[in-house]
Amino acid sequence: MTARATAVAHSNIALIKYWGKRDTAIALPATSSLSLTLDAYLTRTTVEWGAESDSVVLDGSRLNGEAESRVTRFLDLVRRLGDRSDHATVVSHNSVPTAAGLASSASGFAALAAAATAAARIDLTPRDLSILARKGSGSAARSVFGGLAVWHAGTDDASSFAEPIVDPGLDLAMVVAVVDAGTKTISSRAAMQLTAETSPYYPAWVESSRTDFTDMLDAVARADFTRVGELTESNAMRMHASMLGATPPVSYWQPDSVRVLQLVRDLRVSGTECYATMDAGPNVKILCRRTHLDTVRDAVAALDIAGVTTSLPGPGVAVSQAET
Ligand code: ATP
Repeated sequence: MTARATAVAHSNIALIKYWGKRDTAIALPATSSLSLTLDAYLTRTTVEWGAESDSVVLDGSRLNGEAESRVTRFLDLVRRLGDRSDHATVVSHNSVPTAAGLASSASGFAALAAAATAAARIDLTPRDLSILARKGSGSAARSVFGGLAVWHAGTDDASSFAEPIVDPGLDLAMVVAVVDAGTKTISSRAAMQLTAETSPYYPAWVESSRTDFTDMLDAVARADFTRVGELTESNAMRMHASMLGATPPVSYWQPDSVRVLQLVRDLRVSGTECYATMDAGPNVKILCRRTHLDTVRDAVAALDIAGVTTSLPGPGVAVSQAET
């Protein structure tokens, strides 16, 4: 008898960032974060229990080393939850480039959490699914939900969960300016840990991001697009400033990243209101209104960089097929 399920999850881009943990063992973040789930990038993962050993195939290639251990450690959590000792065959496809700062680990671990638990017939509430996904990759907690989601930092395992927040008519969209879709040289995990341990600016980042988070909740509730955009851009720049203060300094920026940031400023001056955010990679994500999506995309395309993708808010994780 097979115990198999497939789940689809979309990646998310944080408007108020997660950068640094207060407890690495159970993945508690230093600060709360808020994100927009995107319809443009997704992971589809199938998990089948009943194997003699765990195996993971991502986009046609067998994972090994740390990438594989990260998945098998996660499967250990599911085994414990379901009180089972068998192993799993995991087959996953990312539509998003892997490890390029486009949040593949967010959609990847949200899809894995949903597929592995559905296949094992473990029935979790969305909140508990977000707590589980968090232990695979922090940002995966937010990809359990569609649209705008918050991840409460919490003080222990049970209080560090994500939940959706209602968009009261902000009409958000995002343009992803792909500067380089190659694999990053330092993983998000390693970079945030280095920043937290060595950057004298890190405590200031934590303090200001806490204020940004409450200000952002207020701006979202008022559907104040301008304030949401301003907070999005300044929060990202401060996160990158904290990385530059690390020893050795961490910088994901490339010359084309700076060209896109300048374009965003120029667009604002000429009346197309949009704001930039960046993660652990050189790509720039531009928050705008739906009505400006084509204008922003065309302006980015004119820079002749590696690529440009447009996205609307995406849905939460869904189990598309389960059989036992
Ligand atoms: P972020 O933008 O959140 O930093 P990222 O994908 O750019 O995400 P990392 O956080 O460093 O970068 O995570 C990338 C790692 O996530 C990959 O090297 C791989 O180990 C893991 N990963 C990505 N997609 C999947 C997947 N579909 N299934 C399992 N693991 C995945």
